[in-house]
Parts: sequence; C-alpha cells; structure tokens
Amino acid sequence: MPPAQPSPCPRCDGLTPDQADQLAIIGGSHLPYSEPYGELRQCASCGAWFRYTRDHDNEIGYVADAPSLDRLDREQARALAAAATAVAQRQLAHFATRDDDYGRRCAADYADELARLTAVMTALALAAP
Ligand SMILES: [Zn+2]
Repeated sequence: MPPAQPSPCPRCDGLTPDQADQLAIIGGSHLPYSEPYGELRQCASCGAWFRYTRDHDNEIGYVADAPSLDRLDREQARALAAAATAVAQRQLAHFATRDDDYGRRCAADYADELARLTAVMTALALAAP
C-alpha cells in the first residue's frame, strides 16, 4: 500500500555530487567553458530535477575538484533545458557540415541530446503549474 505522505526518494534524497551518476543526464554540459554551465539531470524514480557541475574556472585557471549538485524547481529546469537546447541545435548544425567520423559521431550525440531535451521541454510545458 502506498504511503499517504510523500516519502523521501530512495534514489535522490540526500544525494551528493559524487553520486550524480545515479541520475539520468538530459543535456547541457558540466564544463565551465560551455554555455550553459551545468548538466540538466533527472531522477528516474521521482522525476526531481538537478543541475550538476563538475569543474570551474578561477583566477589561476582550471579547477577540477569542485563538483556540485543542486536541486532545481520546474521553472529552473525549464530554463536550463531551453538554454541547452539552443546550444545543442547550434552544435548539431556545426557538426552536420563535417564529413568525417568525429563530426558524424558528435552530430549523432547532439541529435540524441536534442531528442531528450525536446521530450523534457514538452513534458515541462504540459505539466500543471
Ligand atoms: Zn528521486
């Protein structure tokens, strides 16, 4: 019998950045030189949204040890998905002009990402406010 009150999600409740691989990657990038900065991830169990970042720049240079995982509300998830969609569309157009294995592989990856982002944007738009 299901509990009457929502219980903490066993998959994502209290998740640390090091455990972010428990979450499905929807799109975006964890790399600091990319735009938007942050991967949109989703819990497969409860549907909660997260932004995952792994690296950041500082005054000296590249820092590779500062992962973060932030829970997003629906509006924040929608904004990140929209920004990631614009980047993926641009990247797909760029790699589609290349006629080599690397270009084809990247184009396929961005096409997959766009499909996931499109599905997410549709779901978010249909969800009750
Ligand atoms: Zn969850």
